[in-house]
Amino acid sequence: MKLTSRARFSTVCLHAGQDPDPATGAIITPIYQTSTYVQEALGRHKGFEYARTQNPTRMALERNLAAIEGGKAAFAFASGMAAIGAIATLLQSGDHVVVSDNTYGGTFRLFDKVLRRYQLSFTYVDTSKLDEVERAFTKTTRMLFVETPTNPVMRLTDLRAAADLAHAHQVRLVVDNTFASPYVQRPIEFGADLVTHSTTKYLNGHSDSVGGVVIAVRDEDIEWLKFVQNAEGAILSPFDSWLVLRGTKTLPLRMQQHNANGMALAEFLAGHPKVQRVYYPGLTSHPDHDIARRQMSGYGGMVCFDLDGRYDRAARVYDRLQVVKRAASLGGIESLISMPVLTSQWGHTDEQLRAAGVTRGMLRLSVGLEDAADLVADLDQALG
Ligand code: PLP
Repeated sequence: MKLTSRARFSTVCLHAGQDPDPATGAIITPIYQTSTYVQEALGRHKGFEYARTQNPTRMALERNLAAIEGGKAAFAFASGMAAIGAIATLLQSGDHVVVSDNTYGGTFRLFDKVLRRYQLSFTYVDTSKLDEVERAFTKTTRMLFVETPTNPVMRLTDLRAAADLAHAHQVRLVVDNTFASPYVQRPIEFGADLVTHSTTKYLNGHSDSVGGVVIAVRDEDIEWLKFVQNAEGAILSPFDSWLVLRGTKTLPLRMQQHNANGMALAEFLAGHPKVQRVYYPGLTSHPDHDIARRQMSGYGGMVCFDLDGRYDRAARVYDRLQVVKRAASLGGIESLISMPVLTSQWGHTDEQLRAAGVTRGMLRLSVGLEDAADLVADLDQALG
């Protein structure tokens, strides 16, 4: 559907990239579950040759996600990690990347255990401190890879300032926008060159699909990512593409509720006598709250809190929860809780934990869409 450039966010989420099915008029893009397409005659076809290269369901999702993030093109992959792997192919051996130090553990694993074997190097810094980022740049730095908010301590990076700094050094700014979602934050509007998501999280939103996406703005990146998506073949399946397309239709409504519930739980926890510290960018006590107000609309559904640094107490609260489910992942309709020392910071030494600002008593909530009063009551009984 052709949307005017003035179409508002909810309209874009619902309609961008999707036309009624040309064969039947079906309003919902069908799942084109096919591996190939029949040619009418030698070399005569409808623009579809083989399903790794082109699939109408996946292409509708890619147009939809490009519009939602305000980019020129999007490429959907089989997981968030496959999407980040595709971004890394924009680098060449010898290149250097500066990365947020609290980046997702799987991203660190890919960079540290896989890509360093190919003569790529990575420096991890607190990207909320742009003077540290600038000091980390070398002559071979080609990419600044930022997560904001970070996991689990919810540090923020000033996206506009990061983009200006990166561009002054001919460095691409890549933003993993998974934690915020494009309803809350659209990095391309602040100058980011590439945005990536684990669509597994808020974009799909229903905890029933694993996928990833890269959204790009530069023509040379678009051309390369299109080539790599086909060359490496880690494509999102037609069914998962359909699920994520269904998910983005309700993204604004879901995010409004995630934002409201996130704020309600953060405020409840901040006022609870057994909770020592709450990490949520919507609280005025958050060190980066001013940045959050400038670049986020709402503060999302991720809330982290610390009892008193003690693992046994945190584990007791974790085990007592009833409405909130104990599981890894985030961004789904249902509330989930995890313990960073057992997930993102698994195996870290005390010194590494201190450097990351993480304690053994931390709990991370992905606040879902349940009634906020039920979530508060659940946390209250577990803390009691
Ligand atoms: N980026 C972030 C911020 C994540 O939290 C995750 C997964 O938790 C990923 C990327 C990887 O996504 P996936 O699990 O879909 O491969």
